[in-house]
Parts: sequence; structure tokens; C-alpha cells
Amino acid sequence: MLGRNPKRKPIKEYNGVLQVKEVVDTFQGEGPFVGQPAIFVRLGGCNLACDFCDTFFEEFKDIKTEDLVKDIEEKSMLKGARKNLVVITGGEPLRQPIETLCSELIKKNYTVQIETNGSIYRDLPEEVKIICSPKVVNQKYMKIDPRLYSRLTAVKFLISDQREGYCDVPEMYISEKEMPIYLQPMDELDKNLNRKNMDLTIKLAHKYGFNLCLQTHKIWNIY
Ligand code: SF4
Repeated sequence: MLGRNPKRKPIKEYNGVLQVKEVVDTFQGEGPFVGQPAIFVRLGGCNLACDFCDTFFEEFKDIKTEDLVKDIEEKSMLKGARKNLVVITGGEPLRQPIETLCSELIKKNYTVQIETNGSIYRDLPEEVKIICSPKVVNQKYMKIDPRLYSRLTAVKFLISDQREGYCDVPEMYISEKEMPIYLQPMDELDKNLNRKNMDLTIKLAHKYGFNLCLQTHKIWNIY
């Protein structure tokens, strides 16, 4: 959305529907589950508006959670072998009351992964894998909600050579030993800038002993 989206507030009341942009049968392209066949559930709206954002998440529609689960089940069976990973992303998925969606999917033996910016908390089932990619607002990293932090599976930082705030890992994570940390070069839609971002990402990963991560779906040219 390149920062052109409205910043939408978290939805407090759950009325049985979620704002859904699309449900897609694909593969996880990045992070700890990279390469796994997955059903992507892209929810509408975000509470932030980052100017590098490469995702379209507006133009969503209201879908009943039960219908969404049916759609996920159908798509997960489309090509024979059942896909077991469901990635709930956005926009910002924790902006919406996704607790019921997560528990229904877990009951049906799916692995559920959330991709969040970490600024909103919801009490999700403990089986949900939460990957957090915190974002910079006013030159500072937004704090990950402490209740969410203790639940995280991994943290992923975007790295940019040119953008203040994204050119290093925040101090407080440098000695993090308990949780995997991934560094991913920001895609700035510019070959030269992207090369610089990759070089800096490699340098920082060496310096801190963190994991490298790429948006492999862009290399594969898949969703
Ligand atoms: S938090 Fe993520 S989805 Fe939301 S605007 Fe920023 S990059 Fe896009």
C-alpha cells in the first residue's frame, strides 16, 4: 500500500465476521516456515501505514468465520495432499478478533501462523505460532506488547541501508538468546538500494549471529 492506506483501529466486538481480502493456496515465502505449502488468509486493514509496504490489504469484504473456515478447508485440499499450514496475515491480523478462527483451525489440526507488527495484543490459543515484525514509527521501533512478546515464536527485522530506524537491530534485542531472530532486507523496489540492503543485512547477521531471511516468493514469482 506504500503508506497510502487508512490507519484502521482494532475491532473490539466480535460479531462472527472478519474483514477478509483473500484466501490463497500457495507456499510460505519467508520466515521460520519458509517453503511450506500453506493457505494464506489475508485480512483487511492495518493500524499502521508504512511507506514501504508492499502488500494490498484494502478492498476486503465481511465473511462469516464459519464460511472462512470452510473456504480454507476446501483450498487446503484442492491439489490432493492436505496443506496443514494456515498463515493469517494482513494488513495487521491482530486488529481483528481472530480468536475463534484460530481455535476452529487448531481443532481441525491445522498449524496456524500469525504475522503481526506486534503492536496489538489478543489472547490467542497457545498453539498459534506468532511471528512478529516490529515497525518503526517516528524514527523509533514500536514496542512489542509485552503480553505478546512472551508468546512469540520468532522476531523478524527489516533492514534498510538508507532508512533511519531500519539500519540496525534495536539494542534490546541484540542479546536475545531465547528466541530466533531473522533479518530480512527491505524491498525498496530499486535494484541498487536492494543490493545495499542485502549487504547490510548480511553484515548485521554476522555481527549478532542472527538468521538471514529473504522474501523467496518474489524469487519464485508466486503469491
Ligand atoms: S505494519 Fe505491515 S501491513 Fe501494516 S502498513 Fe506496515 S508493512 Fe504494511
